[in-house]
Amino acid sequence: MGVYDALLIGLTHVIFKAFLHDYHLMKPMIKSKTSRMNKFSMFLFLFLIVCGIAQAQNRDDINNRDILYLTSGGKLQPLQANMDIRHYTINLDVDVAKKSIAGSTEIKLNLEKTTDSLLLDLIHLYQVTKILVNNKPVLYQHRDDKLFISSTAGFKSGNQIVYIEYHGIPPVAIKPPWDGGFTWEKDKSGNDWVSINIQAEGGKMYFPCKDHPSDEPNEGVDLKISVPAPLVVAGPGLLVNMSTKKNKSTYHWKTNYTISNYCILFNIGKYKVVKDELVTTLGNKVPIEYYVLEEDIQHAQKVIETKKRDNRILEKYFGEYPWAKEKIGIAEVPNSGMEHQTMITFDNKFIYKNIGGQEYSANLFHEYAHEWWANKVTNKDWGHMWIQEGIATYAEALAMFELGGEAAYNEIIAGHRKNVRNKKAIVPGEEVTEEEVYSGGDIYGKGSFFMHSLRYLIGDEVFFPTLKKLATDPAYTYDQFVTTSDVEKLFSTEAGKDLKPFFDFFLRTTKVLEVGIKEVGFQKYQIKVENSFMPLPFDITSNEKTSRMVIAKEGIIVNSALPPQVDAKGFYLKKVTLQ
Ligand SMILES: [Zn+2]
Repeated sequence: MGVYDALLIGLTHVIFKAFLHDYHLMKPMIKSKTSRMNKFSMFLFLFLIVCGIAQAQNRDDINNRDILYLTSGGKLQPLQANMDIRHYTINLDVDVAKKSIAGSTEIKLNLEKTTDSLLLDLIHLYQVTKILVNNKPVLYQHRDDKLFISSTAGFKSGNQIVYIEYHGIPPVAIKPPWDGGFTWEKDKSGNDWVSINIQAEGGKMYFPCKDHPSDEPNEGVDLKISVPAPLVVAGPGLLVNMSTKKNKSTYHWKTNYTISNYCILFNIGKYKVVKDELVTTLGNKVPIEYYVLEEDIQHAQKVIETKKRDNRILEKYFGEYPWAKEKIGIAEVPNSGMEHQTMITFDNKFIYKNIGGQEYSANLFHEYAHEWWANKVTNKDWGHMWIQEGIATYAEALAMFELGGEAAYNEIIAGHRKNVRNKKAIVPGEEVTEEEVYSGGDIYGKGSFFMHSLRYLIGDEVFFPTLKKLATDPAYTYDQFVTTSDVEKLFSTEAGKDLKPFFDFFLRTTKVLEVGIKEVGFQKYQIKVENSFMPLPFDITSNEKTSRMVIAKEGIIVNSALPPQVDAKGFYLKKVTLQ
């Protein structure tokens, strides 16, 4: 998800909650205005409010269903900690005219211990009609967006197959991709165009699952999606089959890789598939498939060429494209892009900036960077989401360097530093929800700026190979998960110094370095970090010369005619006080 999308999360929640759900919040506002209004303007004011509410309600009744409280992750329930998801098969018929879905999900899972209950997540908007476990009927209850499944015989440790039939009207996305759900659109020619975005709320928005970031299906996913012909379904992995019967087309998409549950989805449109091929840095040939609306086909070649150029930058820093055995996929959608594995979404605006004489789309690049930082290197919990968003955002800075040189890199980094809000720590704890982590917005810019500070601290010779190691070593990739502590330990080992205090200070607190400069004699200044937690190098400029000096707890004394400048280029988040 892009940074601008996330910044709107909080605002959207407030606006929609006020208008659609918590109308009483408006009352004090109305009252305070009464004295200053005549009856007519009061009537007009109320009339406009009523019209606004009525319009919101008429626009689409199903928009009004209460799903804004939904989020993903949080405390892992013991019943879910007991299960390891192996595979999902989602078999759905999408009735585009009725905006409904019907079908089944089959979940292969492994139970660590014998239990009498299974717990899955599925939002309350669906009717569950049948559940079988290992082909046998079981008891179940669907409440509080959860499926409680039980059997008097219990469920033995080991492999289980849970089969669930259900149907219903999926939630409509109010503001995709940040407030997710289904988006039922029409393209300019009037063809149906459907996108799904579920990062904020999780897979439970349309299929029964274990909705927690710490578990991905180790053996991948099969998606069998039926739509009215001639609509096309774009999905993750490889298209293993497509058949059309009685004006209905069924697309069978299959990925053998692990995948986050918010990437298990599909998009529907009157797509054309523009194909190309990319040779990776290791010499593997990967198909490129762009699912683009027929009406936008003239944009396809540029999108694909941009992607190939972006791929060279990303492979240089982070290693080979992660899904070489499947594909590089792009799907055109009616909303801002998302990092949907092997089928990255891109909107229909086709806007590019000129960087160093080359065309660049931050949206296209950022979501593609997530193929490495989110899809291949995946954080274990939303609490460590800065690893995905912060490093994907830092990748944008590296793209700036590759395309526009040092000045372009410095400019984007300065923007990241300036936009740090520091309302709360970007690693707020363990087992937190998606909403808790995204609402501050700092996982993007502060996360990226942290990488910039770390680069200065340990130097390019250690920083870049270590970053590549994090993106390529089997210990951190594919079916492994990472935490902030894993990243810290790797960088500490490679740098040969304990970086934990540095990671803790900038990621787990909202503190900035407090640098004090004090005149202590004739042309003598003391520079001290008042809240020092470890010796740190700084660029010190005195008498027009800049040198890198390490400042430990006791501070340093420098000779300078004028007060020295500390970290003039801004490698750290800091506050400088001339005492
Ligand atoms: Zn993102």
